[in-house]
Amino acid sequence: MPGIDALVVGAGPAGLATAIGLARRGARALVVEHRTPPLDKACGEGLMPAGVRLLGELGVDLARLRGAPLRGIRFLDGSRVLEGEFATGHGLGLRRTVLSEGLLEAAARAGVEVRFGCSLRDWRADADGVRANTSAGELRARVLVGADGLGSRIRAQAGLDLRPPAIAASVARRRRGIRRHYRVSPWSDCVEVHWGDGVEAYVTPVARDEVGVAFLWSGAGGDHEALLPRFPALAARLAGAEPTSRVRGAGPFWQQTRARTAPGVALVGDAAGYTDAVTGEGITLALRCADVLAELIAEGAPLARYESEWRRLSRIHRRFASLLGFGVAHPSLRRAAFAALALVPAAFERLLRIAAEEEDAGEARWIASHRSA
Ligand SMILES: Cc1cc2nc3c(=O)[nH]c(=O)nc-3n(C[C@H](O)[C@H](O)[C@H](O)COP(=O)(O)OP(=O)(O)OC[C@H]3O[C@@H](n4cnc5c(N)ncnc54)[C@H](O)[C@@H]3O)c2cc1C
Repeated sequence: MPGIDALVVGAGPAGLATAIGLARRGARALVVEHRTPPLDKACGEGLMPAGVRLLGELGVDLARLRGAPLRGIRFLDGSRVLEGEFATGHGLGLRRTVLSEGLLEAAARAGVEVRFGCSLRDWRADADGVRANTSAGELRARVLVGADGLGSRIRAQAGLDLRPPAIAASVARRRRGIRRHYRVSPWSDCVEVHWGDGVEAYVTPVARDEVGVAFLWSGAGGDHEALLPRFPALAARLAGAEPTSRVRGAGPFWQQTRARTAPGVALVGDAAGYTDAVTGEGITLALRCADVLAELIAEGAPLARYESEWRRLSRIHRRFASLLGFGVAHPSLRRAAFAALALVPAAFERLLRIAAEEEDAGEARWIASHRSA
């Protein structure tokens, strides 16, 4: 298919943002997605203010979407509560199906073609770009963009998978997530992170009358109803609430890459490497990297430049994921750190700024506070 600058595999946030970015720069992108809408996915569904801003810049009509504005993040550990409030801007709780609908509409307005029910099988690079074998036949493009998520086949086929080190293999390699929604009025305008030993619960208001509850833990199985009683206060809030979605899981989280590019190929979003959902920053990072990748492809710049840009954009995120991962693996140290941060709100504020990747951008500030539950 002559004339295609990028064949984007995956219509998640990373793939659609890349395609919109390309179309807006005058380049031609075709997106193939093996599922059909509505596109759902296990996710905590909390967007940081930077992510909200980036969605607006992509042309997503946020005012029209059913969601819940977020004032900040509340961490609960035993009787201690640490709360961080966005001092400028607001976050957004948005069901994945709603986010997907908003991005697909923006993609259509930008002139992006999305082929649903079309799966990439394999591909090979040659002197002219990439020849892809899909369920709809052969497609040719200058660049193949792997936006095919956590278990990326493009990453594996390009030989970019990285085996976890032994220490990560033991805990991080088994971390996974599971989510479900409930019909209940949100009791907070913050994302709540309830810390337990061996499992955390993330509660995100996603509408006036609905909250999402995601559990992250290390181990096998995935029984949402069995994990809920490990958080008695949360279970009491949800007692009698009607579930509004079926249970969905994702993982294992630890999917690392040797590099983000191979000849004719670039990886973006979770496909580019993922550590853990504990930071709640996956979508924002995906949108940032998609913007840079679209710019480089549209310019015809060497793909190798994307590697250094990806490292720069994801550095703070990767560090913070490691830090929080340490807290997940060492509950007693986490509790001690929690107690110390409760005494020094300025240190907590700084940590939140780093978590929200706001150190460099300087676009939002946090107000931190603490109290006893
Ligand atoms: C439990 C959990 C909680 C999370 N909480 C948050 C949070 O609160 N905030 C946040 O910002 N992030 C959160 N994340 C992370 C966030 O969900 C991801 O970072 C984000 O979805 C990445 O988007 P993506 O486009 O890279 O991948 P995806 O959204 O997974 O999209 C990949 C797409 O590729 C398609 N695809 C795959 N293979 C093929 C193929 N061969 N051919 C065609 N199509 C294909 C898939 O169908 C899918 O639609 C969480 C993740 C989990 C698991």
